Amino acid sequence: MSEQSEDPGYSRAMVVVAHPDDAEFGCSATVAKWCRLGWEVVYVLCTDGSKGTEDRTITSEQLIEIRKREQIAAGEILGLKKVEFLGYPDGYLEPTLDLRRDISREIRRWKPDVLITTNPKRDLIGSGYIGHPDHFAAGEAALSAVYPAARDHLTFPELLDEGFEPHKVREVWMMMFGEDVTRYNPLEEVDVEKSIRALHAHESQISDPEETGKWMRQRRKEIGAKIGADYAEGFKVFNLG
Ligand SMILES: [Zn+2]
Repeated sequence: MSEQSEDPGYSRAMVVVAHPDDAEFGCSATVAKWCRLGWEVVYVLCTDGSKGTEDRTITSEQLIEIRKREQIAAGEILGLKKVEFLGYPDGYLEPTLDLRRDISREIRRWKPDVLITTNPKRDLIGSGYIGHPDHFAAGEAALSAVYPAARDHLTFPELLDEGFEPHKVREVWMMMFGEDVTRYNPLEEVDVEKSIRALHAHESQISDPEETGKWMRQRRKEIGAKIGADYAEGFKVFNLG
């Protein structure tokens, strides 16, 4: 249904998500593949992950540090260049101008060819999950940062003062789990294996690592079957020219 290979001219990617572990669930095998191919990949974490526990003995402050360590460990497994933490409070994320500016700064700093983010819309495709408001907010702010804020020198002129020149992202890949997929990115065993190890680095979030790993592998196998590949992840791709 769609082309299966990345433009060979691309070598830089950025993943903008709300929470530590969002990228591992949604696109980490693609990230592992790109790192294997020598790309420079950077994560931008919008929130501090401070609400993600049912354990009443852990404070938000402790959780922030735990989840930061886990995300950095996951990034090391995948081969990321850097994880940038914007530090907005978990659970309260909104697509504000402040968030848009902060993501624009990271786009201008790291100059990605491709930016992966989450769907800005609540799609309600499944019956077992209604979506998380932080995910929509991160997606909306990231898209608004790509176009036009990171590109236009007169938008957020303070970024120019800080030394960050405008940058045009060439493609946006939106993590998709339903009908709207326009590109299935084929993946190899080594990519999936690395992505599962990266997911397991989020120890505070995974109660049954073996089950979760099996589920991730199975899901990517099913997506891969759609294009005759061993494994794949699905995205809706926007080519911005
Ligand atoms: Zn999340």
